[in-house]
Amino acid sequence: MRIHAIQTGRVRIKQAQIAGRGHGLLRQLQPILSADWAEWTPVYAFAIEHPEGVVVVDTGAGAHLKSLPHWHPYFQLGVRFDIEPEQEIGPQLRSLGIGAHDVKTVVLTHFHVDHDGGLAHFPSSRILADGDEIARTAGIAGAIRGYLPRRWPARFDPEPIVWQSAAFGPFTHFAPIVEAGNVVAVPTPGHTPHHISLIVRDDDELIFLAGDASYLESTMQRGVVDGVSPDEAQARATLANIRKLYAQGQMVYLPAHDPQTAKRLRERRSLPASDGREPDDQTCSAASWPPSATKVAPVM
Ligand SMILES: [Zn+2]
Repeated sequence: MRIHAIQTGRVRIKQAQIAGRGHGLLRQLQPILSADWAEWTPVYAFAIEHPEGVVVVDTGAGAHLKSLPHWHPYFQLGVRFDIEPEQEIGPQLRSLGIGAHDVKTVVLTHFHVDHDGGLAHFPSSRILADGDEIARTAGIAGAIRGYLPRRWPARFDPEPIVWQSAAFGPFTHFAPIVEAGNVVAVPTPGHTPHHISLIVRDDDELIFLAGDASYLESTMQRGVVDGVSPDEAQARATLANIRKLYAQGQMVYLPAHDPQTAKRLRERRSLPASDGREPDDQTCSAASWPPSATKVAPVM
């Protein structure tokens, strides 16, 4: 299966957003108040050339993000975007030979502006996201949280993912995204309370499209919570779940902003299984896909 990492421009945020500093409200204010900017970092979206049709995971940034709401302190003090129209996901997919109508399904890990910024390029695709994440974008509370639903395309109407109540490896529930069952969504709450990630089984590997579950592979490995997760314990539990899969050595971990993501996908680099431990019964791997305790059925 061909999987493309598509870089939609760059974003610059504070170091304290990538790796949270302190705890509680202090941790959450640092991405705004800190003067310690990180280097420019990529904004990735992904396209999976699946036999059932192309699945796009996140839509990346859009050129409209070079202008951000003046009243919002995070947008004024905590983030900068660098993207031109030709760097948006639509033109880049066309250069790969993928037209908008080839994209059957778009799945959003969450609705932050650098993940929903390219929605206008998918006028006829089915758009899926967690229902509670969709609800969280609404009204003044949504705007304060940094969602910009007014920039969504007219008549944009995302479809809530229908979760299966069975566990999927270390995750409490899951949702197949294709009928073949080899692309599934799993809950990775933390960065936002209803954030999701996608797992693609491709031959012997699990490709973990992490969204912003962590900004870097290294922060996931170290269990470092970012600077924006509302609930630190929830975010830490999610990172622990991800590590249960990762520790088996067959998982390529691809956050949306890790500078190594495209290289890691190209090389299909996963952590070598090294310590010979038996996986515990909460884990799954490509070899045992789908986990035997679960029944995989399409989401429709
Ligand atoms: Zn985010």
